[in-house]
This record gives sequence, C-alpha cells and structure tokens, in this order.
Amino acid sequence: MLTVSEDRIYQKKICLLGEFAVGKTSLIRRFVEKRFDEKYLTTVGVMVSRKKVSLPASTVHLLIWDLAGGRDFSQSGYLTGLAGALLVCDLTRVETLAAYQRYATQVRNVNPNAHIILLANKSDLTSTRSLPDEQLFPVAQEVGAPLLMTSAKTGDQVEQAFMMLAERLVTPPPL
Ligand code: GDP
Ligand code: MG
Repeated sequence: MLTVSEDRIYQKKICLLGEFAVGKTSLIRRFVEKRFDEKYLTTVGVMVSRKKVSLPASTVHLLIWDLAGGRDFSQSGYLTGLAGALLVCDLTRVETLAAYQRYATQVRNVNPNAHIILLANKSDLTSTRSLPDEQLFPVAQEVGAPLLMTSAKTGDQVEQAFMMLAERLVTPPPL
C-alpha cells in the first residue's frame, strides 16, 4: 500500500437516496466524471462508482452507491456498511420532499452514526421551482442534517456536497 508520511487512507461507502428522477445518477456523474446528460437513464438495481478524494490530512476512497429510487431499502442489505448518505429531493417537485425523513430513518436504522447531508437538486430550474424555502427548511431541520441546493446540470454545490460528506466521514466525533 502507498503511504505518504502522515496521510491516513480510508475507504467509505456512501449512498444516494431519493425518489425517481430527482437527479441521483446525474449528481454522481457530475462529481465523478464532471459531466451532465439531459436524457434520463433509469438506474436498474445498483451502480457503484469509485472516487478518490484528497483532504488536508487524509485520502478517502469513496464507494458511491447509486440505488434505484422509490424503494424501501431497509430490508434489502444494500445499505449495509454505509458510513454516510446524500438524500436528494427535486426543487421542481414538492412531493419528493417527504423522502428525506423516510430515508433518514432507514439510514439511521442501519448505522445510527451515519453522516447525512440533504440535497435540494435542480437549483438551475428557477422558473419551474415549486418547493419553497418555507417548506424545505423545517423538514431539513427535523431531519437534523445540513442542506445544500445543488445543480447536477451546472455543477453548482455538487463538489461541495460530496467534499462536505467526505470530511465528516473522517472527522472523529468531539469528546
Ligand atoms: P435519478 O432517477 O434520481 O437517478 O435521476 P437522474 O439523474 O436520472 O435525473 C433525472 C432527470 O433529471 C434527467 O433527465 C436529468 O437530466 C435531469 N436532471 C438531474 N439533475 C438535474 C439538475 O440539476 N438540473 C436539471 N435541469 N436537470 C437535472
Ligand atoms: Mg438513477
């Protein structure tokens, strides 16, 4: 194994969860491959991508699990071993918001110490936005996780979201 001075090397499993077509696959593609596709490629089953993230004192190999939306994963084993999750809703579809709480519960049942970050995706679609801050913010507060407005299309806040999660995964909890 390659070790550079004090650098610590981690491997962490993270999952993207949310309703159909909120942009999970697009967010991963943006982060891992730096590109975006307009066409909707239905995710069948599970896709796992790898991405190496360099942090100030450590390197994290993220195993990014893209799970087909709209399912209950709590009994499936797909969440087993996860260290963190990005829960995604779609700012143009108000009905995708309820998935935050549902998936947060599933994730915490599998790992009570899992780090969760909430993404409100498609922030570029300002004219068709239907989910107002007044509805979004209280739900984020209830879940008790940070919230970022992202766009897989423009890339806005996408890198930040994955980096924020990676940093939390390797930061020991305060004593
Ligand atoms: P998934 O089912 O959650 O994996 O959703 P996809 O990543 O397949 O995206 C569903 C559709 O929304 C596709 O047509 C994407 O091109 C589109 N999409 C995803 N993210 C964005 C975004 O940030 N902005 C816009 N305008 N479209 C997006
Ligand atoms: Mg998908």
